[in-house]
Amino acid sequence: KPVTELTKSAASSEAASLRAQLDEWRQEYYVNDAPTVEDHTYDMVYQRLLDLEAAFPAIVTSDSPTQQVGDVTLPGFSKVSHAVPMLSMGDVFSIEELSAFEARTKQNLGQSELDYNVELKIDGLAISLVYENGIFVQGSTRGDGNIGEDITANLRTIKSIPKQLTEPLSIEVRGECYMPKAAFAKLNERQEADGKAPFANPRNAAAGSLRQLDPQVTADRELATFIYYTANFDDLGVASQSDALARYEELGFTINPHYRVCHNMDDIAAYIDTYTDQRETLSYGIDGIVVKVNSIAQQDELGNTVKVPRWEIAYKFPPDEQQTVIQDIEWTV
Ligand code: NAD
Repeated sequence: KPVTELTKSAASSEAASLRAQLDEWRQEYYVNDAPTVEDHTYDMVYQRLLDLEAAFPAIVTSDSPTQQVGDVTLPGFSKVSHAVPMLSMGDVFSIEELSAFEARTKQNLGQSELDYNVELKIDGLAISLVYENGIFVQGSTRGDGNIGEDITANLRTIKSIPKQLTEPLSIEVRGECYMPKAAFAKLNERQEADGKAPFANPRNAAAGSLRQLDPQVTADRELATFIYYTANFDDLGVASQSDALARYEELGFTINPHYRVCHNMDDIAAYIDTYTDQRETLSYGIDGIVVKVNSIAQQDELGNTVKVPRWEIAYKFPPDEQQTVIQDIEWTV
């Protein structure tokens, strides 16, 4: 039933049952690293809950999945407090919804034109890396956004994470840790040979591999990273997201090379077309693209909601029609 045809009490009881369902899926996904439903199924139920709560704001509960960043921290790891919260991201599922975001953002900033940095949405999990005077001192997961898990020893085993920067900078950067498709295929072959359950997808395999008490297990899993954010733009000396990416690379980080500065919706739609076509040939999984307001000053002006930045949005690809045939594909980075 459309939300506009519901009474408040019907909306409230539907929302309660959606929250219970989402909580169960979140436990499987974030805690057990073993989802039982496709992300798209989760996203559609989550979207319905968002719509119900938008139509009847009084039914929002503080523990609703719409009000909280998903992950929880596992026992066995020390906790790390994030001085700047690690947030989630808003989603859209069509070009029309993306256009509405674009129009709203221009309006909120009082601008008729804006530059966007458009990036691939890497299907992994968010990590934070802290450097003191250029030396890697601490790495952590996002956790609930405020408190994450200390996984420094595990992150040290990942080749693309520099242990020392090219400059003695003190900075916290953030990015995505992922498992390349080839490493995922190899890992699941090994799981099968050892009589263990295969991982559902590379994202869950990456999460399971990072949250290990034995760093040697992480080392064997061939994880990789792309850096795309810093909690301290002032220390970086740049004014835009596209310049920040170039700067991370200068410092020794690996960034994803497929970013593009777009000036309007036509540019963004062309980028989406390109990567919808090329998606299968990439050596790592992507589940969409991310549109970010390029100017850091404008990002600051827009700010965040309790859960997501207002200056970026994910356009999620429609669900996979078929499984990738791993052997026949020549992957590109
Ligand atoms: P999200 O994964 O949809 O988006 C936010 C994350 O995107 C960031 O934290 C960051 O880690 C990542 N990201 C990748 N590339 C990026 C880039 N270039 N720039 C910035 N960030 C980038 O949101 P979420 O809150 O982490 O997770 C929610 C999603 O998890 C849902 O949309 C759903 O698809 C999935 N999920 C699935 C299940 C299930 O049962 N299948 C359960 C819970 C959640």
